[in-house]
Amino acid sequence: MKKTAILVRNVKKIFSTAKGRVLALDRINLEIKPGELFIILGPSGCGKSTLLNIIAGLEEPTEGEIFFGDKVVFSDKKHLSLEPFERDVAMVFQSYALYPHMTVYQNMAFPLKNLKYKKKKIREQVIKIAQMLRIETLLERKPAELSGGQRQRVAIGRALVRTPQVLLMDEPLSNLDAQLRAEMRVELKVLIKDLGITTIYVTHDQTEAMTLGDRIALLKEGVLQQTGSPDELFYCPKNTFVAGFIGTPSMNFLSAEIIKSIKKPNITIGIRPQDIEIRPPNKGIINAFVKLVEKIGDKYLVHVDYRKQKIIIETSNFSKEKEVSLFWPKEKMHFFDKNGERIES
Ligand code: ATP
Repeated sequence: MKKTAILVRNVKKIFSTAKGRVLALDRINLEIKPGELFIILGPSGCGKSTLLNIIAGLEEPTEGEIFFGDKVVFSDKKHLSLEPFERDVAMVFQSYALYPHMTVYQNMAFPLKNLKYKKKKIREQVIKIAQMLRIETLLERKPAELSGGQRQRVAIGRALVRTPQVLLMDEPLSNLDAQLRAEMRVELKVLIKDLGITTIYVTHDQTEAMTLGDRIALLKEGVLQQTGSPDELFYCPKNTFVAGFIGTPSMNFLSAEIIKSIKKPNITIGIRPQDIEIRPPNKGIINAFVKLVEKIGDKYLVHVDYRKQKIIIETSNFSKEKEVSLFWPKEKMHFFDKNGERIES
């Protein structure tokens, strides 16, 4: 088996606008493995869609190279750029863009018809994918007669019928309500893994990224911050941006000067809300005042103030104390230098 399905090498993208140049991607390097469900994650405007469109062949990078397996699909040096159909990619976007006048069956059959598949083969393939997506009873309906979730399944089905080499998805679930999104997320992961298709999935939602992804690439302002498994990003964030972006509620950051037991100057300490224990006053590491308590299901989010720094603690039992002490195990602390880069402890 080939070790790399997609290689993105030194990809840079500059958009020229009336107001000047926008550096949308700055020397991005990625290596995606065959069958991997790879997530491109980051806040709005960080370059996720641009990167996906570049991999698809819908947009050309300003510099760099892209390989699908051993095949070069883009190279600035060789002045080579393959069209999306030559790359054998299928895309699913946030807006489903189904053909309104066609039935679900016709929508799903469309890519195969274009490829001149025989009728019998088309039928077999459409039914197989429709069954996997549990939409086989909807094949004769038109898109207007479907719910949002069903429409999105059809769009995914249409992308998958011809079993593309690569599946590219840009926020495919963001039009769905929270519950449906969570359900579809699980189904989608099972489906993609069953089919074994290499998939790149763009989202700004870290929970989606953490639950879906084999690996995640986190971008900020066109710069890759960290690539790794969900656990690597959560337990070993490379900098304060990654540490703050991954995990809810966000990691707490404290300057070391305020914690007497820590002798290093100019560093930032990160502690996740789940790793802090609330104890009676003077029984922990620092004493703090409770400002606000949120109850979410069986959990409490306790907001405290400590010398003008806000700290959030997630706990399963809390009984309205005003003054508390906070404790956390040493090994749960993350250390960052003055530039926000991780210091290995
Ligand atoms: P979102 O999550 O909001 O969709 P994104 O992370 O997908 O954002 P992109 O759409 O890739 O971000 O945009 C990255 C940057 O490039 C932004 O600053 C954006 O304004 C800029 N940009 C994108 N497309 C163009 C374009 N055609 N012309 C000029 N600038 C563009």
